[in-house]
Amino acid sequence: MTTDIFRQLDSMNLDDLLERSSALTLLGHGRTVTYSRKVFIPLTRLCRDVCSYCTFATQPSRVEKPFLSREEVLAIARAGEAAGCREALFTLGDNPEARYAVARDALNESGHSSTLDYVRDMAQAVLDETGLLPHLNPGIMGDQDYVALRPVSVSMGIMLETSSERLSERGGPHFGSPDKLPGVRIAAIEAAGRAKVPLTTGLLIGIGETREERVVALIAIRDLHARYGHIQEVIIQNFRAKDDTRMAAHDDLPLEEHLWTIAAARLILGADMSVQAPPNLHDPSALGDLLRAGVNDWGGVSPVTPDHVNPEAAWPSLDKLERLTVAADRVLLQRLAVGPRYAMDVDWIDPSLRPRVLRAIDGRGLPKTDDWVVGEGKPVPWTISPDAGKASPEVLALLDRVADGDLLSEADITRLFQAEGQDIAAIANAADSLRQETVGDAVTYVINRNINYTNICLYKCGFCGFSKGSIKSERGPAYKLDFDEIGLRSREAVERGATEVCLQGGIHPSYDGNTYLDVLKAVRATAPSIHIHAFSPLEVTHGARTLGLSLMDFLARLKEAGLSTLPGTAAEILAADVRKAICPDKVSVEEWMDVMRAAHANGLKTTATIMFGHVDEYRHWAQHLLHVRALQVETGGFTEFVPLPFVHMETPIWRKGRARSGPSYRETLLMHAIARLVLHPVIPNIQVSWVKMGPEGARAMLQAGVNDLGGVLMDESITRAAGGKNGQAFDAAQMIDLAAQIGRPARQRSTCYDIVQPSLAGEYA
Ligand code: SF4
Repeated sequence: MTTDIFRQLDSMNLDDLLERSSALTLLGHGRTVTYSRKVFIPLTRLCRDVCSYCTFATQPSRVEKPFLSREEVLAIARAGEAAGCREALFTLGDNPEARYAVARDALNESGHSSTLDYVRDMAQAVLDETGLLPHLNPGIMGDQDYVALRPVSVSMGIMLETSSERLSERGGPHFGSPDKLPGVRIAAIEAAGRAKVPLTTGLLIGIGETREERVVALIAIRDLHARYGHIQEVIIQNFRAKDDTRMAAHDDLPLEEHLWTIAAARLILGADMSVQAPPNLHDPSALGDLLRAGVNDWGGVSPVTPDHVNPEAAWPSLDKLERLTVAADRVLLQRLAVGPRYAMDVDWIDPSLRPRVLRAIDGRGLPKTDDWVVGEGKPVPWTISPDAGKASPEVLALLDRVADGDLLSEADITRLFQAEGQDIAAIANAADSLRQETVGDAVTYVINRNINYTNICLYKCGFCGFSKGSIKSERGPAYKLDFDEIGLRSREAVERGATEVCLQGGIHPSYDGNTYLDVLKAVRATAPSIHIHAFSPLEVTHGARTLGLSLMDFLARLKEAGLSTLPGTAAEILAADVRKAICPDKVSVEEWMDVMRAAHANGLKTTATIMFGHVDEYRHWAQHLLHVRALQVETGGFTEFVPLPFVHMETPIWRKGRARSGPSYRETLLMHAIARLVLHPVIPNIQVSWVKMGPEGARAMLQAGVNDLGGVLMDESITRAAGGKNGQAFDAAQMIDLAAQIGRPARQRSTCYDIVQPSLAGEYA
């Protein structure tokens, strides 16, 4: 089997091999090439092994002391943090205390039982004192070692290097290095898998192994990954001869051999595997070839510390690395020390480190690179130019298909959410043109009042900072408005020019279906003609259940009692796996769809929403948009689509460290724009929530496919309860001013998007 794979690969023409590998790389990673901005911490350069190519390991007589001190470790880490690094890479010799008395003495003196014990303390110090995430390369370890180090590192690494036992024989580069026996290293890689440690491994090629032996090593890695799923990355590192080593006269690995092995790795390990080659071990002109061969990651690159393993080869500056990556038609993005797929799946991260990882990343598992936070009212970090320049052919093709009226698939939409650079601008500009073509330039808004009649709720949605469990809640004052107060607030709303009251609340233990009917009566008693926009799908299901009515019958009774339209909230993300994590006891995807379908069948229009940026992924966003679109095609009952970026600060799920800190600005902008593209032409109105986005954010969304600013609200409380700082109301004058800032007219509308004349305000039902 192994021989067959080798023969097949070896018989292929290099260009054909590279072409197949390149296609597979693009399939798995698109144009994205990642790197980790890191500092290199050489904790000890003493090692019990004596590999012939190594300049890193040295003799006690050649170092001032066996280990870096805590202060030295922290000084390196702090310098890295100041330079924007996120990874502290601990690389060190293997088990030096087994060979050197000075290492044993130093460990004894500092009260550590072993080098691994010292590594643990130093990684903990970095975690305690800086924002860096440690990645550890301590050499051969067993199950208990991995278990002990997992709480202080987000990932670890051990190179397999080779499958060739020959290289450990006398005269070979690994002679005298017990830790380099392939079987010993495979056992260590396996132990990492059992401990659920995201692991970087790889090959060192050009040290005397054959091509076939490389294929054997790659297949071993593939099989270990198939068993444990823990290989986050495979490095294909080329040998370079170094002065002062026994292999100083050995030839460097030729570029073609490196390309062949990278391509072989890609074909053996598959499209999804992250394949790395260091960017500092060839002439920079070869970097494009490495990418074409199958590389999708440059590994750790440090703006602060040298590559202590290859001290003769400086890392390219990050500017230069970006230029070279872009020249190869790829996009360079920063990653954390833990690969994006593992960062997104909390099972791979020790519970003590999960909050740090989740709070740093976006919906791809890559670090957010600006400090914009939804709900905080900060300025937007960048703006879109109407003249965006050249986008990628792939995104342009998808935009052409939208323009031709094609329905995009889940994979197509997911691809759009991955957009970077000029692709973002192309998507936003396409959405803006489509908005202009569909609904014109008017920026609409509705004058309404929010009435959240109670924040006491039986449910425990993890993203909700609004609800309180009971009157005695310790999380802030709980309240329940009586019907008189609801009536009073409704009358006041009319007096203040509102055409709509928007009513929603928690599921109070005393509420049943009659309560909702009584709420409607209370409003109708004081504001007979106001538009009543009320009751989330959860409230509707609760009301129907408590009265023993079908959804259709309960909705008919609500309509008869004066209900005009329903909010499409409680949708969150229409994906069962996400709902299980964020709101397990709430309505299911099917129940939400059923309420919307029944409302539409009853002649009650609704809105549709999405709440994104917590534990969700781009494929979930795509699924959500397709659910909403499909239902709209079926019923035509949605008036608008409202993206609601997750405001995290006061929510239980975030405080417990189990959710991201809301979407990034890039993601938020894309959600508004892509909603326009996917829902065109069936839902013509895309709304931005000024409560979440603030005025500046709302203005930016108006230039990326949005045509509506929603309601003035008067008494917004739900987002504020989650930690939002954008205020309780945004009056008509502010709406008009906001539209004017981008040269667009503002129009007051009714809930159902009829234009309201100022003299008719308050008369729309
Ligand atoms: S989101 Fe609604 S149902 Fe969930 S806890 Fe908050 S108020 Fe209750």
